[in-house]
Amino acid sequence: GALFDGLTRQPADPLLGLTALFEADRRPDRLDLGVGVFRDEQGATPIMRSVKAAEGRLLERQDTKAYLGTEGDPLFVRYLADLVLGPERADDPRLTGIQTPGGTGALRLGAELLAGARPDATVWIGTPTWPNHAPIFRQAGLSVRMHRFFDPSRSDVDLDAMLADLANARPGDVVVLHGCCHNPTGVTLTAAQWALVVRFCSTRGLVPFVDLAYHGLGDGLEADVAPTLALLEAMPEALLAYSCDKNFGLYRDRVGALWVQGATPGSATLVRGHLQALARSMWSMPPDHGAAIVREILTESVLKEDWKAELETMRGRINGLRAALAALHPALAPIGRQRGMFALLPVTPANVAALRVDHGIYMADSGRINIAGLRTASIDRFVKQLGPFLP
Ligand code: PMP
Repeated sequence: GALFDGLTRQPADPLLGLTALFEADRRPDRLDLGVGVFRDEQGATPIMRSVKAAEGRLLERQDTKAYLGTEGDPLFVRYLADLVLGPERADDPRLTGIQTPGGTGALRLGAELLAGARPDATVWIGTPTWPNHAPIFRQAGLSVRMHRFFDPSRSDVDLDAMLADLANARPGDVVVLHGCCHNPTGVTLTAAQWALVVRFCSTRGLVPFVDLAYHGLGDGLEADVAPTLALLEAMPEALLAYSCDKNFGLYRDRVGALWVQGATPGSATLVRGHLQALARSMWSMPPDHGAAIVREILTESVLKEDWKAELETMRGRINGLRAALAALHPALAPIGRQRGMFALLPVTPANVAALRVDHGIYMADSGRINIAGLRTASIDRFVKQLGPFLP
């Protein structure tokens, strides 16, 4: 038979299909709550001022496009580590970090590292989660098991169910944790619950892999990373996949980093060599432009302050919309306590279809909405049209 005809047909990406439907909709008050990008009140995803300024500087000053190494731009990683981990922890010799193509690249690189170090490890992922989590680890050859995480009846974390499921994990297994701003539910573990999860991992010898893709978009730069820092403090070994694609608005430029904490400085050195070798065989080196922008912003105090102010405005918009939703309907009250770009509405796929056809409101079949896709000016209308479907 023909070479490729034995392949099974892949399902189309549901969110991309939704975008196409949205673009064909001519209703002026249509709302795109699908794809997870920040939007302003006009529905645009603008380039941040600080990013534009950094790009201007790069255009003037960059004098070569010669290759960097497989680890990307070491200064980008260094300054990002200062921002994320703090200068002290950034110097911990048990930690090693390299630049990656986005958070996705960081997760995949970490998955490949784990597959080499412990091929029979199972990776545990809470449900629901970002749909790419399980495929990333499976493609790296690891087994994946799902555990309960979200209780839809309370719109909150179900910690008991989570730990009951994770009791089936064996020492050396990996637990994927959203560092902040859970996608798609927006729920967060309290500091006490997070401490219980960390203790659980540490007593059972589980390896946490933190995915931090929305740093600064929840409660602020410091608060959003505090749980991750507590985890790195308590655990001998851990991985951290970081994305700059949301908090710097650099989505298509693919900016991220992977940090790995080894048991000793010697293991970190060993890990670093493997990360470089794995990166070389997957993408040789990460794309430079977006990381160079982030480096410029983080090294120039005027740009850095402006970026922080812009990030605060984005966060303020999201949390303002959350508070407004929560105040308008009792079934939406939990959204006010949740954080990040997403919330999971208690609606069925049939409800989702009706909202799309009758009112031009576009969201994923799961009921996940991108909060930033809402408009302050039309939030009353949105809740009125959603209301009949809410419990
Ligand atoms: N993790 C989560 C939870 C995400 O939502 C995303 C982006 N949708 C990523 C990782 C990957 O981000 P990036 O675009 O930087 O690859």
